[in-house]
Amino acid sequence: MDYRFLGASGLKITEITYGNWLTHGSQIENEVATACVQAALDAGITTFDTADVYANGAAEEVLGTALKSQRRESLEVFTKVYWPVGPKGPNDTGLSRKHIMEGINGSLRRLQMDYVDLYQAHRYDHQTPLEETIGAFADVVRSGKALYIGVSEWNAEQLRAGQVLAKAAGFSLVSNQPQYSALWRVIEAEVIPAAADLGMSQVVWSPMAQGVLSGKYLPGQDAPAGSRATDKKGGANTISRFLDDTVLERVQKLAPIAAEMGLKMSQLAIAWVLQNPNVASALVGASRPEQVAENVLASGVVLPPEVMSQIDAVLGDCIER
Ligand code: NDP
Repeated sequence: MDYRFLGASGLKITEITYGNWLTHGSQIENEVATACVQAALDAGITTFDTADVYANGAAEEVLGTALKSQRRESLEVFTKVYWPVGPKGPNDTGLSRKHIMEGINGSLRRLQMDYVDLYQAHRYDHQTPLEETIGAFADVVRSGKALYIGVSEWNAEQLRAGQVLAKAAGFSLVSNQPQYSALWRVIEAEVIPAAADLGMSQVVWSPMAQGVLSGKYLPGQDAPAGSRATDKKGGANTISRFLDDTVLERVQKLAPIAAEMGLKMSQLAIAWVLQNPNVASALVGASRPEQVAENVLASGVVLPPEVMSQIDAVLGDCIER
């Protein structure tokens, strides 16, 4: 498993990060979650991403328990703050000083850890002064409860404004966590160039378009049993935007391209996002340990320019830009 630097920082993270959205504490049983984490560790993944809001706090608890016996110094653990966990009182949302300070304490308690490596603003908060948010993150770093600060789904202008204030407060924003896949390329126009200038990486979510780019969803057919599209606890809803027959037909045309490269379609999808040097890591989810073992083989794969062009031609106007 290859490592990449997170932004301009000295922190090295695995280029494939295990993420537990929709799975831990929800879609899959705790024993399966623990087996997936073990499969990730066995394959050399040391970077793990969660959020306080995933399964209403349960995802952090399951991940923390699964990692408890590991040497803390050998892990990079990421979590996030923004949405409420449990009660939805007026101060349980957003990036106020109050919610950030209470958020980090809650996350550390559920993870059973003294610190997280990366604490991320899960979204931009239009109702809190950015100075207040950045000041609170600076204090979280000074307290040692988080070692680095990142954001998620901020636009280029928000990244620039945040980085100026962070530098003035004595730290740097090191990463942004956006959606990015061969089908979803919205960050390419403005976010990636701005972040590259600012010394920030992208740590990208849903690189497989929630499983769609694995090729297992076939046009005109029912979704495979046990897949996210059949998960009534939340997954079926979030994946629905990609379950369009035109998209699924185009995705099937990636099969020969993957085969020519000696790859599974899942591996081609993950390798595709890793070709971008501004991407520090692909955040990959799994509902079974076998998926983790398959997906990690995307690390280190080089896709030649002609293969990248073929993928563009096949997906064509199904690509969101
Ligand atoms: P992916 O695109 O990697 O989708 C993962 C899902 O695809 C798995 O849960 C599994 O679902 C299926 N899958 C995985 N491997 C295979 C395989 N080899 N063959 C077939 N199917 C496979 O990413 P996610 O959407 O799960 O997101 C990854 C992570 O990104 C999250 O865990 C979270 O950490 C982060 N994230 C961040 C967000 C943000 O706002 N910052 C938003 C969303 C995610 P199944 O088997 O059930 O079909």
